[in-house]
Amino acid sequence: LENQIHRNERLAMIGQMAAGTAHEIRNPLTSIRGFLQILNKTLKERNMMREVEYTNIMLDEIDRINHLVGEFLLLSKSRETRYEKIDLALLMKQFLPIIQNEALLHGIEVQTKDFDNLPPIVGDKELLKQVFLNICKNAIEAMGNQGRLTLSHHFLPEEQMISINIKDTGPGIPPYVIDKIFEPFFTTKEEGTGLGLSVCQRIIHDMGGKIRVSSKGYGTTFHICIPYLDV
Ligand code: ADP
Ligand code: MG
Repeated sequence: LENQIHRNERLAMIGQMAAGTAHEIRNPLTSIRGFLQILNKTLKERNMMREVEYTNIMLDEIDRINHLVGEFLLLSKSRETRYEKIDLALLMKQFLPIIQNEALLHGIEVQTKDFDNLPPIVGDKELLKQVFLNICKNAIEAMGNQGRLTLSHHFLPEEQMISINIKDTGPGIPPYVIDKIFEPFFTTKEEGTGLGLSVCQRIIHDMGGKIRVSSKGYGTTFHICIPYLDV
């Protein structure tokens, strides 16, 4: 336990330091990316295809750093949160095409239950979309190139919460892994950051909600539970 505490503190400190420099990393990266794109275009025009390929790889790698830095920034809460009343039904309607597109690219079918009678909630729209996106992306990544992503909801009336359920038909999460998935930097992926779920948990906790996960051998369901307002 002692070790675990030390480890968590160390990770939190690394996270904070990294977040502190995140903006400093992002700005030069943006200008590198811009010039690299010009270079890429010029190389294409001169038909230097091998060099075009190199610059494509560099652009991809820059995007990966940007993504990582973005997760650090979310984790460190350096952005002001903007809480407001959210029409959850509308938010889901706006979110669906994004995830349908992402799923389509991976040959994944998306099934949705009726989202019309979702209650209003209080939260930060952008952060909430980030949560749904992160969890759906994990689901898609877990399924590889086939499967079904099911989005549904149910009410938890005793707790006055609404649960948005994101279910996949992937391989599931083994018991020895499931306790760790919300830890910052925990990942089982070769190119994972291990920050997605810790960011999600932070965001939902700040909204007074919680994330539950169930996975029994086959497939995984994430329940994103959020307090709702009376209508
Ligand atoms: P990353 O996606 O960068 O690995 P996350 O914090 O998003 O980091 O996820 C942590 C880990 O949780 C993943 O590496 C994976 O092992 C596990 N995980 C999350 N969602 C799923 C899922 N739907 N199916 C199987 N494993 C999952
Ligand atoms: Mg992830």
